[in-house]
Amino acid sequence: MKIAKPRSPKIGFVSLGCPKALVDSERILTQLRVQGYETASDYSGADLVIVNTCGFIDSAVDESLDAIGEALAQNGKVIVTGCLGAQPQKILDRHPQVLKITGPQRYEEVLAAVHEQLPPTHEPFLDLVPAQGIKLTPRHYAYLKISEGCNHRCSFCIIPSMRGDLVSRPIGEVMREAEGLVRAGVKELLVISQDTSAYGVDLKYAAQDWRGRERRARFFDLSQALSELGVWVRLHYVYPYPHVDEVIALMGEGRLLPYLDIPFQHASPRILKLMKRPAAAENTLSRIHAWRKSLPDLTIRSTFIVGFPGETDAEFDTLLQWMEQAQLDRVGCFEYSAVAGAAANALPDPVPAEVKAERHARFMQLAARTSAARLARKVGREMRVLVDRVEGQQATARTEGDAPEVDGVVHIRHPRGSAHKLKAGDWADVLITGADEYDLEAKPRG
Ligand code: SF4
Repeated sequence: MKIAKPRSPKIGFVSLGCPKALVDSERILTQLRVQGYETASDYSGADLVIVNTCGFIDSAVDESLDAIGEALAQNGKVIVTGCLGAQPQKILDRHPQVLKITGPQRYEEVLAAVHEQLPPTHEPFLDLVPAQGIKLTPRHYAYLKISEGCNHRCSFCIIPSMRGDLVSRPIGEVMREAEGLVRAGVKELLVISQDTSAYGVDLKYAAQDWRGRERRARFFDLSQALSELGVWVRLHYVYPYPHVDEVIALMGEGRLLPYLDIPFQHASPRILKLMKRPAAAENTLSRIHAWRKSLPDLTIRSTFIVGFPGETDAEFDTLLQWMEQAQLDRVGCFEYSAVAGAAANALPDPVPAEVKAERHARFMQLAARTSAARLARKVGREMRVLVDRVEGQQATARTEGDAPEVDGVVHIRHPRGSAHKLKAGDWADVLITGADEYDLEAKPRG
């Protein structure tokens, strides 16, 4: 069934200046697209306009000021960024009505200004990026969207009716964007899509040249190419098909983060069938055990739905038993709720709200116990972590096993009186000194 697609906010974009400014523009546009914004081809079709300016020489300043004036005249809502933004008074003298001015590479401030004017909508069942993740995307990590849409028809999901079947981006385009992000200072790429392991199916795995070698638009080839960029690469929304095994081998060689985000959603075969989940027939437990055997440090993150229509006590118990055996590191859980237009709404035997809530609580208790046990194994180990922010004597960082916003963090406490030299985006070598249910404690090494 097709349902009306909610209108996405549209952003007009004017990019002026040198290749560095172009990379900034690409970065901002990429993150906006990841967050569900569309780009408008003209001022009148845009809800607001971003002007990325140049301030290098007088003629570039004039050109930038003219571009801002044109955008204001034809649209009215304008955010200014880029080199001329480093001299805000110059802009305000001529155009006091601009909404916000930021300097070059202030991606996160531009995104925050856009959110303020045009809030993004968030649907936990539908969105790839968590709500809290879109408020501020620090410059050291970025989401890399490799495809849009989905060929599956999960009964609780309306993505295919909203966004259509899988449309993968050509591999050359994805890799150029990834390279641009790395050039702009990104140290961690978070690969996202609706179904990452299906990447390229629609393109019949069409090959393109990248760095002098043919690469096919295929999950493994893309993972391999990304692993050559020298940054952390984290894979989200992977399904447990057999070909994931090849990527586990790349992780074992230290070329990709040993991390998989697999939305299992349930473990009861009947519920998975009712959900029409991809890979429902796979023996997921034996696959997880085999991966862990070859890669003991593999972190597995997943999401689940409890209280799906018709879920019996016994089927919920099957899920809990599966969880005990799977020992997943990071787990999110939603109580089933009807999404307008989803096929599952027509299924019989809805689960009463209080039963859903009780199952959710039991599920999360088990997930927390497992998470705590998995994290406790890390105490006493030395690790390299990526710093997300620094406040006073405490830095907040992440290990290879922590995706931003959805997983836990590492709190690095510096000895009293020692000056804090870390800043966001730095690598830090730490000794893990403690763990609770979700987070780790650490101290600087040496
Ligand atoms: S795999 Fe299922 S849940 Fe995920 S986007 Fe496709 S239809 Fe929706």
